[in-house]
Amino acid sequence: MTQEARKHIVPREDNVGILNSSREDTGREKPMKDPTTFLEKRALQLHLQEECLSRRKILGLLSLVGAGMVLAPGAAIGQGVTKGPQIIDTHHHIFPPKFTTRNLKQILGDSPFPTSFYANWSPRNSLEQMDQSGVATAIGSITDPGVWFGDNEEGRKNARDCNEYGAKLIQDFPGRFGMWGAIPLPDADGSLREIEYVYDVLKLDGIGLLTSYDNGKLLGHSNFAPVMEELNRRKAVVFVHPTVSCCAMPIGHVNRTSIDFPTDTTRTIADLVYSGTLMRFPNIRWIFSHGGGTILMLISRLAGARMTPEERAARIPNGLEPELAKLYYDIASVAVNPAAMAAVFKAIPKDHILYGSDVPFWTVEKIATAMNKFEISASDLRKIQRENALQLLPRWKT
Ligand SMILES: [Zn+2]
Repeated sequence: MTQEARKHIVPREDNVGILNSSREDTGREKPMKDPTTFLEKRALQLHLQEECLSRRKILGLLSLVGAGMVLAPGAAIGQGVTKGPQIIDTHHHIFPPKFTTRNLKQILGDSPFPTSFYANWSPRNSLEQMDQSGVATAIGSITDPGVWFGDNEEGRKNARDCNEYGAKLIQDFPGRFGMWGAIPLPDADGSLREIEYVYDVLKLDGIGLLTSYDNGKLLGHSNFAPVMEELNRRKAVVFVHPTVSCCAMPIGHVNRTSIDFPTDTTRTIADLVYSGTLMRFPNIRWIFSHGGGTILMLISRLAGARMTPEERAARIPNGLEPELAKLYYDIASVAVNPAAMAAVFKAIPKDHILYGSDVPFWTVEKIATAMNKFEISASDLRKIQRENALQLLPRWKT
């Protein structure tokens, strides 16, 4: 392997010391720290897969892959999935190269993964997994921490770069990728402008939001009302991804995302319900990640929220559960947890459950395998794999 090729696949930096770089610059093997947590194991697994793939197949393409450039549509991988369930993956992360390079420090903030995990991502990484596990189409999204890091102009530029990259993916690999457009909340004016561009120019699939912004402002916050009003006007499909909130309490040995991602999802759903935002903007179709976080475990506790009879009649006229059942939920990460899936199947109508892989943090194969063990009818499985997504995203029907 040439030095140039190795440069693209070997992590040179390691923000948390998980991989500790498996090779030194000399190319000699170096002992790895034993992985213990899921994320550590996943990081190691991905690293080994990456090395294996590079040796087998892509020596000559590494400079392209390492740079995260879109490969020519004629490449062998990514030609399309013509058999099987034709899964639509609504929770699938992409890392646009310009945006990622410019914002690595923020992206690495709470991540246990090394720089190379993000900087070396390419469409090929996604497509190979999709092809192997029957995923026809993946709707790309920008994961936590989003695109706004305190400066409105930078946030607007980040959102634009991500969205234009997503539009190019859609164009370069017809039928394989969609995109939840990124907007620079909490910058409401910039977000409104980007929503217009996402819908009227790029024609992406909907909007991707985080559960909270700017020191814990949840999605029902009054600052975001103009944006919600516009999303409601456009009957937007909104994919909500968790973030680590301002107030996440660190716990030794536990990655902050493990607890605070599902917790912040719960907070923002509760806020949308009890602030009256869901009722005020009923045309927005909401998708929440990871089975809705912990919300299903808290239904009885949340049902007792302090409200006047008038407020209760306006916001949860039939109780909390019917409001939760109006939302959509993906099965990323919870698919492998039978107890969590039991709650999802009990509380959520089968036609509001969506397939989500959370690639590259989980593998498509892991979620697809778990899904095939669900004790549900073949027609319900089909809904989760594809048909429910088509209700929200009819353009993928062909
Ligand atoms: Zn995710």
